[in-house]
Amino acid sequence: MDRYAVIGNPVAHSRSPQIHRLFAEQTGEKLTYEALECAEGEFEQTVREFAAEGGKGMNVTLPFKLGAFALCSGKNEAAELSGAVNTLSFAGDKVLGGNTDGAGLLHDLKVNHQIELTGKTVLVLGAGGAARGIMKPLLDEKPAEVVVCNRLPYKPEEFRETFGQYGPVQPCTYLALKGHRADVIINATSASVSGVVPQLPDNILVAGGVCYDLYYSKTATAFQQWAAEQGASKNLDGLGMLVEQAAESFNIWRGVRPETAAVLQALREELSS
Ligand code: NDP
Repeated sequence: MDRYAVIGNPVAHSRSPQIHRLFAEQTGEKLTYEALECAEGEFEQTVREFAAEGGKGMNVTLPFKLGAFALCSGKNEAAELSGAVNTLSFAGDKVLGGNTDGAGLLHDLKVNHQIELTGKTVLVLGAGGAARGIMKPLLDEKPAEVVVCNRLPYKPEEFRETFGQYGPVQPCTYLALKGHRADVIINATSASVSGVVPQLPDNILVAGGVCYDLYYSKTATAFQQWAAEQGASKNLDGLGMLVEQAAESFNIWRGVRPETAAVLQALREELSS
């Protein structure tokens, strides 16, 4: 049995073990997948021990995504651009890093929900790690522009420097959003974690516009409640992205991308029960 794990702190709440076990069952891949909690200063040692004991790969969650980036000997383009790694693969003494968040979000938007981004104005709220991870895949869809809005204004400026070469990136502040209109609003802030909505002007979402919160919870997130008030035609949370980014990791490790619909449905039922 090949061994995999998700490493984080805390990690007990992680749904990754359940998701990957369901993927393994479905595809017939022989593997085990566990949750590994490790102290902040012990990340590198824990990863290297896991690999030395024969571990094949790991998912990395908070607060170690930047630490994972630093210890990789090789990284794919998604990881390089996002500056964070959520998927580790061990090959001999090499540690290879990937970031599947952006691919996961795009799969959920396009394949699961038939949302087209080409020619659309996309507003990304937040400029943290998750926002970085989704920028290049969003720009690859050739939107009219991606407006990035954040409380700390220097971060969206950095986004323009990094991602401007892939498409039109417009840095913005919440105050300056007045008068803007967006077809798709993606909440990549952690505001929903504390039940808060970023300060958005009324009428920012076009009629029939789409809202997506990267966060998910048992009931509608604070941002989803706001989106419902704005009349969003599709009002989605991040559970689909979670399952799709896991499928991307599974594909990196095993060379097969599992079917996600049944897994997502099982998680959704469990979450809302
Ligand atoms: P970071 O800590 O890296 O970034 C947090 C961002 O949120 C920053 O831009 C911060 O702004 C902003 N922010 C926090 N509170 C507020 C607020 N009250 N109003 C406005 N902006 C706020 O977090 P991540 O990027 O790693 O995660 C962001 C979200 O994405 C989390 O909810 C996380 O759970 C979710 N996520 C979901 C995934 C999935 O698979 N569904 C995968 C990865 C993340 P500032 O810089 O100004 O402080």
